[in-house]
Amino acid sequence: MKPLVLSGRAANTSPGLEQLGRRLIRVREFSYDGLGELSPFDAPLVAQQDQIDWGSNFGSDLIVLRAAVDQTEEIRKPFVRLNRDFDYLANGDLISVDGRTGRLRTIYRRASRYNFFLITERCNHLCLMCSQPPKDVNDDWILEEVCEALPLIDPSTPTLGFTGGEPLTNRDRFIEMLRIAKDALPSTGLHVLTNGRAFADPQVAKAWADVAHPNLTAGIPVYSAVDYLHDHVVQSKGAFDETLLGILRLKNLGQRIEIRVVLHALTAPRLVETCEWIARNLPFVDHVALMGLENTGYAIANDSQLWIDPMDYQASLTAGVLALRAARVRTSIYNLPLCLIDESVRSHAVQSISDWKNAYVEECGSCDERPRCAGFFSSGRPKFSRGIRPIVGEPQIAV
Ligand code: SF4
Repeated sequence: MKPLVLSGRAANTSPGLEQLGRRLIRVREFSYDGLGELSPFDAPLVAQQDQIDWGSNFGSDLIVLRAAVDQTEEIRKPFVRLNRDFDYLANGDLISVDGRTGRLRTIYRRASRYNFFLITERCNHLCLMCSQPPKDVNDDWILEEVCEALPLIDPSTPTLGFTGGEPLTNRDRFIEMLRIAKDALPSTGLHVLTNGRAFADPQVAKAWADVAHPNLTAGIPVYSAVDYLHDHVVQSKGAFDETLLGILRLKNLGQRIEIRVVLHALTAPRLVETCEWIARNLPFVDHVALMGLENTGYAIANDSQLWIDPMDYQASLTAGVLALRAARVRTSIYNLPLCLIDESVRSHAVQSISDWKNAYVEECGSCDERPRCAGFFSSGRPKFSRGIRPIVGEPQIAV
């Protein structure tokens, strides 16, 4: 199991590239028709030796070479040569290259359904299972880079996600970024993973609503119906009250809200209670996602507190989904293999794991449900349930 590499070092770079500093690049392949006008951010993606002339005459101040192009003597422009991990890059993808260090990151893949922008590594929570442990550094440049990137994205992209850290750390600029996204990508749905506390401030909730995006969702975690348990999971006293106030303020302004409950040994034992409480008190939310744990980041460090075999909460998950379903709350199960979910609620399961870190195990080879199954995270240190077994010859679920 190995995730797709989204950041790394170039195989080599030319002298002079360091003067270009950090650069956002939209790569264009030899045949790049249908992607609209060229922009100053476009650079040729030279795939083979006989495309070097094309790349040199492209009209950009640098050239990107695939790993296979290893004779670079005749190239007269600054270049960055990718290593083989980045062979997947294609027309219209966006990368960020730091010419001083040779480090590069893929920030958008045009062919993927799973494009998420990390906005900041700062956060006012310290969740026990955080997959992206926060750092207290000024990284506002990331948000500026995202603002720069949005107009370069294919307008037919169905959805974009924004995550962190807490994306609303720099509230004003993030909301400005939502406006840029709305203007540049009017038909792209936006999904923001936020802890929701910023919306307790009525001005922030109003500024969010004033963006008036037709398809903007705030995905907000609520880990328990019990305040101290939620506060403990996010390691911040008072978080539950402020998050709930934020949800109410945002919904009062007609905004779309998804509640996210991550399932682990601290939250799963009270899952039925949590779902019944959501069904009774927050039935107006647009979606509830009950989510298997990604065993990476702090989840590895806190493994002894957090790990629970999903088989041990299978019955609670079933009861929780049924409670939400009875209240007509749209509910999905994320990140869990179908064989660990009771048949009665399997239709709620979603293939939610991003393509770049999605994997399957040997048992899946003989499973009828593999095309519909979320499978596993390949990131971090995957842990496996005792319940994994191929589903063979059973009626297929309707999805
Ligand atoms: S055996 Fe594999 S493909 Fe089949 S349901 Fe389980 S995890 Fe999914």
